Amino acid sequence: MSKSSANLHKFNDSAYAIIGADGLTNFGLVKGTDGSALLIDADIRRMDEIDDGLQRAGCTQVKYLLNTHENFDHSSANYYFEKNGAVIIGSDGCWEALQMDGDAKFAEMSGREPGLKSRYPDLKMGQLQLTFAKSMTIHLPGVDVQVLHSAHNGKSHSLGDSIAYIERDRILYAGDLLYTRYHPVTVYGDIPNWISSIDHLMTQSFTSVLPGHGPVSEGGDAYKSAFADSGTSTVVVKFVVMLGGKPSIQRTIELRPKDPSNIQSVVLFYDPNQPVGYQVTRYTPQGEKKGTLKTLGTDFLLIGTSEITQ
Ligand SMILES: [Zn+2]
Repeated sequence: MSKSSANLHKFNDSAYAIIGADGLTNFGLVKGTDGSALLIDADIRRMDEIDDGLQRAGCTQVKYLLNTHENFDHSSANYYFEKNGAVIIGSDGCWEALQMDGDAKFAEMSGREPGLKSRYPDLKMGQLQLTFAKSMTIHLPGVDVQVLHSAHNGKSHSLGDSIAYIERDRILYAGDLLYTRYHPVTVYGDIPNWISSIDHLMTQSFTSVLPGHGPVSEGGDAYKSAFADSGTSTVVVKFVVMLGGKPSIQRTIELRPKDPSNIQSVVLFYDPNQPVGYQVTRYTPQGEKKGTLKTLGTDFLLIGTSEITQ
């Protein structure tokens, strides 16, 4: 598959998803009978893939772009789609987060991709145009999409977490509230709130679930073990902080397929001017695989058969 062709998943004639390779962000597509579309999350670094997915799903115009939350991999194409006539939608929490440091985070993240500036010379963070406190419904010809702010008490994985679902077809676009095959490890997110947000989701039954990252889940196994299929018995993550100029291990966590929750939080005390490091060791039937010490550049880590930070 070339870089520009999308791994397009079709739920039915109106609902599709673009699945990111190796746990990269997933995007949702909901198509009206007239070809107008709601795009759920978009990353400017992957526009070729998004264009290919839209075209192959038969979407002729992106009418709405929903940010499930404020992170760059979900919101960085806002300005691009706004210029092309889409209305950019997100929760009030997402709006607050983007107002607070959206521009700074955008500059930092887009600065790491030198090709972006030459391809999109006027690129910037696009703000939301339409926000909601609790919920809203987007009506496309022939299909309705319910959108619900799901950051329990205002903060779970992020400030802005929202989910979108098509009630008629029991299809859920979960954003980063759910991951399949990856264990999120968060340093800043509010875990009790995150778990309450997910508890709420678990009282509903959905036939298909698109997580923020990882494969589509058909049926109810979206929350289950991330490692079992790869034969991993335990993953140990060591967090290293600088103390008195020297690196020191401050926290060690263990993740196992049978953990009751596949989310873990870590409380770290560190100097904000010093990097935080982490090292991942995997235990498989083939033995122990020790990773190198890396710098934690963001507020959470996704641990699957490889680890991702973004
Ligand atoms: Zn994400």
